[in-house]
Amino acid sequence: MSEAAATDATTPTKIEQAGERRLAIHWADGARHEFDVRALRIACGCAQCVDEWTGAGRLDPASVPEDVHPIRIEGVGRYALQIDWSDGHSAGIYPFRRLRELADASG
Ligand SMILES: [Zn+2]
Repeated sequence: MSEAAATDATTPTKIEQAGERRLAIHWADGARHEFDVRALRIACGCAQCVDEWTGAGRLDPASVPEDVHPIRIEGVGRYALQIDWSDGHSAGIYPFRRLRELADASG
């Protein structure tokens, strides 16, 4: 992970719960995105959820509870968030760059 690659577009200035099912991230470039927390859980890119070698998803979205939500959100260095989820999954690492990609992809 190279911190040199960080830009304003991948630097969160604020992360807040924007409702029961929504997590909002404010970015240093002025953008603000809201994420559906269950979609975020399903987008987890950790080794348990995605095959490290093939990149294929291992997580069956149907196995993720409808009411899944973050229990704890922590920064990991300056490049990622770690989210502990209510379904017991706590290995979820979300690099800021990936969050920004997800945000831009969802419009
Ligand atoms: Zn995971």
